[in-house]
Parts: sequence; C-alpha cells; structure tokens
Amino acid sequence: MSEVGVRPHFRRVALIGIGLIGSSLARVIRRDGLADHIAVSARTQHTLDIATRLGLADSTSLDARKVVEGADLVVLSVPLGAYGSIASVIGSGVKPGAIVTDVGSVKECVIADVGPHLPEGVHLVPGHPVAGTEHSGPEAGFAELFAGRYCILTPPPGTDPTAIETVTALWRQAGMIVETMSAQHHDRVLAITSHLPHLIAYTIVGTATDLEEQLKSEVIRYSAGGFRDFTRIAASDPVMWRDVFLNNRDAVLEMLGRFTEDLAALQRAIRWGEGDGLQEKFTRTREIRRGILEVKQA
Ligand code: NAP
Repeated sequence: MSEVGVRPHFRRVALIGIGLIGSSLARVIRRDGLADHIAVSARTQHTLDIATRLGLADSTSLDARKVVEGADLVVLSVPLGAYGSIASVIGSGVKPGAIVTDVGSVKECVIADVGPHLPEGVHLVPGHPVAGTEHSGPEAGFAELFAGRYCILTPPPGTDPTAIETVTALWRQAGMIVETMSAQHHDRVLAITSHLPHLIAYTIVGTATDLEEQLKSEVIRYSAGGFRDFTRIAASDPVMWRDVFLNNRDAVLEMLGRFTEDLAALQRAIRWGEGDGLQEKFTRTREIRRGILEVKQA
C-alpha cells in the first residue's frame, strides 16, 4: 500500500473542519475519486453551505458525531484548541477499524487530547501536511497546495502498520513526500522551522504598528525592503496560531531562549562594530537558503 502510485479508497470520509487545509484535501479526494461519500462538519452552517456549493460535501451536519457515523476515515482539520471537545463528542461514535487522522501543526497534544476518547480498534494516525498559505476558509483551498511538500506522520508506538500505510497513501496521492517520526521530535523541529518564525513575524509587524503614524505609512511604502515578507506571515490566522503556541509551549520556549541569546550576540557585535563576526554569521545563514532551494522547498 505504501509504494508511490497506490491509490487509497474510502467508502465514507468524515471531514471535521473544512477550511484551507480540510477543503484542499476534499478537493484532492474529489479530483482523484478517493471516496464514495464525503461527509462534512464545521462550526457554522455558513461554512457548510459554502462546502456544498463548491461540491466538496455529499452530506453535512453541524453535529460532528453524525458525520463520523459509518466513516472509515475521519480527518480533523480544525484549530488545535477544538480537538479535545470534538474528540469527546465523536469518540465513541467512530466505528471499530476506522482511521482517525488530523492535519494539526502540533502533534504531541493530538495524542493526548484525542487518543483517550477513541474506542478500542480505532486507529489514530496523527499527521501534519507541512503546506499552507496565510488564507483561511473553504474558498481558500486548492488541490495543488500539497504538491511537492512534506507530510509528517506521528503514529504512537504500536499503531497498526496498515492504518499508517493508508494515511501515507492518501497524502502521497495529494503529491506529498511522507515521513514518519515521533510526535515529540516533530514538535521540536517545527518549533524552530515554523512556530518561531511566525512569532518573530507577529512581533516585528506589531512593533511597526506601534510606531507613530507617519513612520507607519513609510513602513508600508518601503515594505519591499524585507518587512513585506514578515507581513505575509503575520497575516496568518490568529486562532490557529494562538493554539499552536499554547499547545507547543515547551519546545517554542526552548527555541525562543536560544534565539534571544543569538540575537543578543548580534546586538553586541553591532554595538562593538565587529564587522567580521557579522559577515561570518550572514555568510553561514546564506548556505541554509541554498539548501532549501536544492531540496525544492523554496
Ligand atoms: P481554517 O481555514 O480557519 O478552517 C478551520 C475549520 O475548522 C473551519 O471549517 C471551521 O469552521 C472549523 N472549526 C473551527 N473551530 C471549530 C470548532 N470549535 N468546532 C468545529 N469546527 C471548528 O483553518 P486551517 O488553516 O484549515 O487550519 C486547520 C488546521 O490545519 C489547524 O489545526 C492548523 O494547525 C493546521 N494547519 C494549518 C496550516 C496553514 O497554513 N493554515 C498548515 C498546516 C496545518 P467554521 O468556518 O464554521 O468556523
């Protein structure tokens, strides 16, 4: 099942949450005919109506428990803060043998918040497609979002290998490169590659916003000088990112500690006019960009 090109098929897929990520996956499932029936739940009827209009749902309900009934695959694509309450609602309604997976940006909390609610015989395979944009909602999604990007699965030890292979096949079908690691390792890696950069972007854009009016308009006018890239990241969904930081607190605080030490070293180098030190540091970081280009993740 795990080789490239093996196409998974589900009788009924239950999508809990149909925003940017959930709707992009729904589009892949539709495009490639991976399910006989897509059942969708969200928080508001408005979102369910849009999903129906876009042709992404065969049935919808605000009651997540109804949606998971009879599903062989359940995908959670909601902010991390909603996982616990949703899992307590759907848990006992998921049929034995079904797979429950998710797309959340932090992984240890999924095992802690969802695992205890699932009955014996239901397979939990947490996942994180490392792909996204700063946009939200079902209309923001597109099937090509995942193409060429990495998807990280973090099945707890002892997870049924066939369930892992099925989820692997699903994301491969979406065009992703699938890797498996422990949830703890995932959360440390993503703290530095994704969570800290977002925190820095939120900080720098916030600092600029606090500057007085005249400077603010100049900030926008001259934003191509580097600021613009931060504003794109800092436009990301506030609820999603609140939940990422609350759910990956330890790893983010560890990386933030290292970062502030390095920042203080740069501050000192600038104060003391240590040009060689600055140049050496900037030369080293340039290599990282080359590495990203080489693995086609730019
Ligand atoms: P989104 O576009 O804001 O969509 C969120 C969806 O969850 C909506 O359908 C929303 O329904 C539903 N929802 C929100 N709160 C809910 C609740 N309490 N109960 C039930 N449904 C609820 O979000 P997204 O960007 O797809 O993110 C979803 C997940 O993907 C998050 O866990 C995030 O960490 C992860 N992720 C995001 C990205 C990214 O770049 N955005 C990348 C990788 C992974 P309504 O519209 O009705 O409110």
